[in-house]
Amino acid sequence: MKTQRISIVAAFLLLLCSLGASAQTPPQIPIWDANKVELKSQKLGDGIYAILPTTAEKETTQGIPQATTGGFIVGSKGVLLIEVMLSKRLYDQEVALIRSVTDKPIIYAVNTSDHGDHCFSNYLLPASTLIIQNEFAKENLAKNYEGIKQFMVGLFGAGRGIESSVYRPADIIIPKNNNLKLDMGDGKVVEFLNVGTAQSPADLFVWMPNQKIFWAGNPFIAESPAIPWLFDGYFLEPANNLKKVYDFLPADAVIIPGHGRVTNKAGIKYTIDYVSALKQQVEAAVAKGLTLEQTKAAVKMDEFNKGYVLFNWLHFNFNLPNAYKDISDNKKK
Ligand SMILES: [Zn+2]
Repeated sequence: MKTQRISIVAAFLLLLCSLGASAQTPPQIPIWDANKVELKSQKLGDGIYAILPTTAEKETTQGIPQATTGGFIVGSKGVLLIEVMLSKRLYDQEVALIRSVTDKPIIYAVNTSDHGDHCFSNYLLPASTLIIQNEFAKENLAKNYEGIKQFMVGLFGAGRGIESSVYRPADIIIPKNNNLKLDMGDGKVVEFLNVGTAQSPADLFVWMPNQKIFWAGNPFIAESPAIPWLFDGYFLEPANNLKKVYDFLPADAVIIPGHGRVTNKAGIKYTIDYVSALKQQVEAAVAKGLTLEQTKAAVKMDEFNKGYVLFNWLHFNFNLPNAYKDISDNKKK
């Protein structure tokens, strides 16, 4: 699995470096500009905040890709920070948002992915902060930090503070199919759920069962018209796990998607609908014996192409090919 993952990053770099592969490069680099993003906090409960780009409220439903969301929880002994962001510029904004409501130390920080926009500022945290990650995320970051940095520069541009990031190992790691529960005090119990691959094998969900608040990370990028970024080489496991997570969430949960405004369960259903339609249509194509190119021509899914800037890039270069690969491989078994 690890070899496959490294080769995916390598393939990504090749295609980004190759001018001829314009169809496979994102329509805009940077996808969003970490030198311009301004973060704000949104209060979700007593001592519970989302951190969002100031543009998220207006631009999410316009299909404009948004920077990473996060949050923080003020407990009786200190703060849990959710996501440290891509660069020092953004991390410093998070710290300022925390300091606007509390002087308590950041005692925990969690990264919901091994992609740099979720974890690259770990090196800036106080030495005493304990970092929480999915086990695969830690292993992959330890082995492949420079590769992931290049991959992030490829998508988010040079000169955005990515180059300065230094690997800092996580302190608390959660293996696949395991959860960890942390009691921050004052009724703020936080659960970290590793259900396996929902976008990548490095995913971790953050859930507050008492308050019904859920940080969804990259697996649920944003509400409509955004579609998922299944570009880590997996489809069937994410398809199952996205549905499993969706079914687990109560109807009145407050959901902070990985890259969009705060929403609810209905707001992330578009991801489930897109993935299940893609699965169904690619299964039908594979059953008919269509090649990948024929499947791309047949499974355009225009009904889901509602103005997300990255739709064609993600659908035709990653989501559909990964679905085709997993479904064809499954058929051969
Ligand atoms: Zn992200």
